[in-house]
Amino acid sequence: MLFFPLEKNIALKEFTEDAGDYFYTEIIRAEGNVTFKAAFSYKGETLSNEKSLKNEEVTDEEYELLSLAYPLLKELCGFAPGWGMLTGVRPSKLIMNKMLETNEETARDYFINHFFATPEKTELALSVAKREIEIVKSIDEKSFSLYVSIPFCPTRCSYCSFVSHSIGTDSAKKLMPEYVNKLCEEIAFTGLKAKENELKLTSVYWGGGTPTTLSAEDLDRVLSAIEDNFDLTNCTEYTVEAGRPDTITPEKLQVLKKHKVGRISINPQTFSNGVLEAIGRKHSAELTIEKYNLAREIGFDCINMDLIAGLPTDTLEGFKNSVDKAIALGAENITVHTLALKRSSTIVTENESGSVSEKDVAKMLDYAKKVLTKSGYYPYYMYRQSKALGNFENVGWCKEHKECKYNVLMMEEYQHILSVGAGSVTKLLSPGIEKIERIFNYKFPFEYISRFSELLEKKERISTFFGEYQ
Ligand code: SF4
Repeated sequence: MLFFPLEKNIALKEFTEDAGDYFYTEIIRAEGNVTFKAAFSYKGETLSNEKSLKNEEVTDEEYELLSLAYPLLKELCGFAPGWGMLTGVRPSKLIMNKMLETNEETARDYFINHFFATPEKTELALSVAKREIEIVKSIDEKSFSLYVSIPFCPTRCSYCSFVSHSIGTDSAKKLMPEYVNKLCEEIAFTGLKAKENELKLTSVYWGGGTPTTLSAEDLDRVLSAIEDNFDLTNCTEYTVEAGRPDTITPEKLQVLKKHKVGRISINPQTFSNGVLEAIGRKHSAELTIEKYNLAREIGFDCINMDLIAGLPTDTLEGFKNSVDKAIALGAENITVHTLALKRSSTIVTENESGSVSEKDVAKMLDYAKKVLTKSGYYPYYMYRQSKALGNFENVGWCKEHKECKYNVLMMEEYQHILSVGAGSVTKLLSPGIEKIERIFNYKFPFEYISRFSELLEKKERISTFFGEYQ
């Protein structure tokens, strides 16, 4: 899947020489030893490899097989993925754990020589891991973050794979008032669970969707519900994503400010109007700047801007310009994503993936890293998505002391997350994080509303979970 992310069936069930393009692996266990075989045929060329090891030499069969296959794929496909054989979502967590178990040098060697990651990607993961260690150290076992899901957007972006409803459709718009009612009820219920279990709230994060799709009145209602039902004394970070500039109004920003929201996201994705049009965002780059300036006037001093490398019709020059603009505007956080071609996005279903090559995406990310570093930003969190172009990563960059702790703790699964709203997931961690239990809220707003009482029953598990560890 690293080399052919959009293929559905690439593995042969049975080996036949005339199978055309194929990728074949086999493990043969005979007495005393194990033989690993890999063969790969692509565009008329075939490469194969095999090795035998004594039983006691094999600690991880999957690794032995894949490390045999990987060089074949690399050679015939003609490129080496930056992260080598690593497929996981959290490379920084992996390297951080290795560093904590051993030391930095061993962790570096593990990435470069065991997984074939490039030295550049390895250093990136190490830098992130070092920042993350500081944040993780400050967390105690009873602390948690609250996640609020608002699964509505003004229109749907062509690359989007989230469950987000465009309020351009009447059916979605009609659901919103009842959605807000139920959300406030769920907040009250969840607040009670937090109190009963003596949990300490350290950060609140609203995502979606686009939370500022709600009216100023509804934002006020939900923000008040949180204040009424949770103890915010220890809450040091409050983020509301206001991602789409076309949802931002002075009234909404004033409401956020009144309720002490300290961090917002205003996401350009790109500063090229042609690209914005190509991805179905019905706003201009100028509007992003206008709303950014408005947020500054109202007093927001921590603003995140998301950018995406590899958007359809974008160019290397266009992307460089977008990074330069976000830096020039002085955003405290700049998150650089790699476009992921998810099957549920219209970009894939309607075959609009555009023409940005993986090589160009690599250059875009290199440029971002170079200028962000030069401008005083550092990488503080990172994750990978399946089907990202070139299997590249998403990196959150920030100015000194401006990291969003929630992003780190949620992504690396180091803190309980109590979540409210459709599609959100509550995550409960056992002591020592030996086990993570998840409670899934219903995905779609109509289902969330119609099955609300079942949902509250499911969330009773919060109390029994903590009861088990008393
Ligand atoms: S703004 Fe974000 S959540 Fe909404 S449609 Fe676009 S990508 Fe999806």
